[in-house]
Amino acid sequence: MKAPSFAYAKPSALDEAFELLERHGEGARILAGGQSLIPSLNMRLSSPQILVDIAGLPHLKGISLQQDRLRIGALVTHAEIESSAEVRTHVPLLADAAPHIAHPAIRNRGTLGGSLALADPAAEYPACALALNATLVLLGRKGERRVPASSFFKGLFETDLRPGEILVAAEFPRVERSVFLELARRHGDYAIIGLAAVADRSGRRVAFLGAGATPILAKGASSASTVEEALKKLEKDLHPPADLHHSSATKLHLAKVLLTRAWTTLAKPH
Ligand code: FAD
Repeated sequence: MKAPSFAYAKPSALDEAFELLERHGEGARILAGGQSLIPSLNMRLSSPQILVDIAGLPHLKGISLQQDRLRIGALVTHAEIESSAEVRTHVPLLADAAPHIAHPAIRNRGTLGGSLALADPAAEYPACALALNATLVLLGRKGERRVPASSFFKGLFETDLRPGEILVAAEFPRVERSVFLELARRHGDYAIIGLAAVADRSGRRVAFLGAGATPILAKGASSASTVEEALKKLEKDLHPPADLHHSSATKLHLAKVLLTRAWTTLAKPH
């Protein structure tokens, strides 16, 4: 199918983008890499009046180390995250997760901001953001809001972004010890279930993707002292809905398999 007709604008400054979003209200959609939005238009799942292409906004680009945090601009692509030496050194969880996203052609265009703003529960970055306790930087005409990942993902494809706001960057604490694992039918498919986990001085944080309407922090399993205790607590943390191919019990079983595989890395002494 073909997309319904729409107008297109490519602002070169943030003020211009905010003006367009305000003027067109619900009729406007932000276009980043287009790897989720354009297929949804082609399938006629939505029909915006205008696409506001943010690819020309320099404020949303680049990766920079700011004291103990790595700031990654919303327009940084999956491929750039995969190949960045700074990401690999300071937040290896993201570098490990990126190759699981789709295929190279999609990773060359799809962006960090697009993935976080879309909030697909089976996507890799939202779970990483939750495990890492990332801060999402949202900018609108009224100023900047800094939202922790734990408050950003509100429901199925639903986030804390308000009308007229743009996600400009995400800031990730430096965490060297981490594990990313996922099970998919074929490499590049959306995950059946996946795990993003980190361990630092404050303890362990294990988040799951593909286990509910949002990424889910497994609080009980994260606080366990042994793998046996973690597996037991995971039964209370996760109630994954069945999908077309897997029952809820199968998905919980697969989540336990991933947690067992991740445990040794997470349990190493500091
Ligand atoms: P777009 O498609 O341009 O936008 C997506 C949504 O986010 C739109 O609603 C848009 O308005 C909004 N948006 C975008 N940027 C911003 C911003 N800065 N501020 C506010 N709102 C914004 N993803 C995975 O995570 N894992 C996968 O395994 C995976 N497999 C895929 C397989 C295929 C075949 C395809 C086509 C896509 C797949 N994707 C997968 C999706 C891909 O990762 C997309 O790149 C990503 O979901 C969206 O990023 P984008 O830059 O393309 O955003």
